Amino acid sequence: MIPPSPTTGTPVDTPIDSSGAARPVAGFLPRDPAVLATGLTCGIDVGGTKIAGAVVDPEGHVVDEHRVVSPADSADAVEDAIAGLILELAGRHELVGVGIGAAGYVDAARSTVMFAPNIAWRDEDLRSEVEARVHLPVVVENDANAAAWGEFVFGAASEAHDMLMVTIGTGVGGGIVSNGALFRGGFGAAAEIGHLRVVPGGRICGCGNHGCLEQYASGTALVRETRALAVTPAAADLLERAGGDPARIDGPMITAAAAEGDAFAVAQVAEVGTWLGEAIASLAAVLDPGSVVVGGGVSEAGELLLEPVRDAFTQQLAGRGHRPVPTIVAASLGNRAGVIGAADLARR
Ligand SMILES: [Zn+2]
Repeated sequence: MIPPSPTTGTPVDTPIDSSGAARPVAGFLPRDPAVLATGLTCGIDVGGTKIAGAVVDPEGHVVDEHRVVSPADSADAVEDAIAGLILELAGRHELVGVGIGAAGYVDAARSTVMFAPNIAWRDEDLRSEVEARVHLPVVVENDANAAAWGEFVFGAASEAHDMLMVTIGTGVGGGIVSNGALFRGGFGAAAEIGHLRVVPGGRICGCGNHGCLEQYASGTALVRETRALAVTPAAADLLERAGGDPARIDGPMITAAAAEGDAFAVAQVAEVGTWLGEAIASLAAVLDPGSVVVGGGVSEAGELLLEPVRDAFTQQLAGRGHRPVPTIVAASLGNRAGVIGAADLARR
């Protein structure tokens, strides 16, 4: 993919200051920091199949939730669905702001989705579109960044100052908090660690490159590899769970079998963990995070995933034995990390 130009789709060049807060932007609804700090905000997580919304208080407690099916047909329809969800929640609570986590590249002004892989958003000014519909101040953030922020402020990394979050779901997402602030990069496209190349010339990726991490360490990769091996004798028990049909094997089935001690399933989850641990070691050489948080659907395998992650990390970390090592822990907010993080980002 061609890197987005710094000005593409950005209505106003709005630098983010070191605290992570955006300066006032002309053309958007006014954001009153005092009101935003104390009131209820709405966090939205736009997924490929559903849109989740939550009303969240300043301490990160979810006081109400609602979700709708995501219409896949047009950008407009998705925006209408997001607005409908917000208005539903606004009818039940007095909301002061909205944060939207969306899969895709979000510009530094936290307004425009420059590119979304699963929704027809191309340079889409999502902030303006939603503000016009709901009449509340809105900020937009990459969904993995929003989840990382949720875990950083209220979840598994709430004691850390620098953290790396890795989200293993359909793909592999990432979020980085550096010196207490979300690291967005120069153009808002940082921390796309799923596209870190781990195998030169390796498996082809949806991004157009070969050998990206998410082709080896995602839920999709786990299921694909497991199905491919399902006819081997070692997989007999798992195949029986799937009624003899490899195509019926899915992620939750593999993690459930692993949790019950099925050796084949344990090994499949461990392989994902090994790929992940090695990639985290490479990232630690650059970022030196104090804490690494692993989230997403596959992380529900818990220690069955995390132990191989830690083993591979320890074996690959540059300077091992001569430097402090980060804790590598499971996310604690579950699939609410995105909405909780987005709701908190609405305040900042
Ligand atoms: Zn890729």
